[in-house]
Amino acid sequence: MFHDYLKNIERIEFAVTMMCTGRCRHCSEGDHINCKGHIDGDVATDAVRKICSHFKIKSLMTFGGEPLLYPEVIFAIHDTAREMGIEDRQLITNGFFSRSSEKISEVAEGLARSGVNDLLLSVDAFHQETIPLEPVMFFAESVVKEGIPLELSPAWLVSREDNNPYNNRTREIIDKFSHLGIPVGQGNIIFPEGNALKYLSEYFDNDVEASSPYDDDPTDVRSISISPDGSVDLMDGNIYETDIIELLQNYMKGS
Ligand code: SF4
Repeated sequence: MFHDYLKNIERIEFAVTMMCTGRCRHCSEGDHINCKGHIDGDVATDAVRKICSHFKIKSLMTFGGEPLLYPEVIFAIHDTAREMGIEDRQLITNGFFSRSSEKISEVAEGLARSGVNDLLLSVDAFHQETIPLEPVMFFAESVVKEGIPLELSPAWLVSREDNNPYNNRTREIIDKFSHLGIPVGQGNIIFPEGNALKYLSEYFDNDVEASSPYDDDPTDVRSISISPDGSVDLMDGNIYETDIIELLQNYMKGS
């Protein structure tokens, strides 16, 4: 019923919106100018249910842009992921979606209620160039209070160990969170794409062809990745127009 290349699908990813509160110079997505809209919550949850009825999905991730600009959509997707028995329910956020303490607390409560159990908070020299630390810190405190497993997820330039000015600033920012006892995860090494290629090119070796760590192997697809406009990576179509199962059934049809 599905092509053999899809037999190892075990993950769903939603880029919920490309709108963002940050303007990061390392962003692989570019400037986020004129980015509007978000994935529809009902369409997204319907896709999660259908995918889970055919594949053993182990993890689901929501990210952006800044996904918490649309918290209700995030709650709905994670509620459904839990209902469908997906074990690892991740959210990546820059933590800045409001300056209101009341709103920030409400969203943290909602995330706990909807079963997010792996929250990655992007804090580093790049994010904090345009994103104020104070509301992010309050969000981190609220998430800790709600008991949601949380990890700091910094972007490193060149390598985690390299002593360039950006990495040094990132270490200072991470230190500011030390009183909360939040673990620091692997984060990611900045990939030469989008803004990073534009603004940080002196740090990349232009003679070495880089392959994106985010690309899936089309002959062994592990993840179904859905964009804010409903289009599905590697699939020819859109979940607003075509049932997700039909899109998957059509993958490499005839090959
Ligand atoms: S890196 Fe993240 S927070 Fe920064 S502009 Fe890109 S999507 Fe927004």
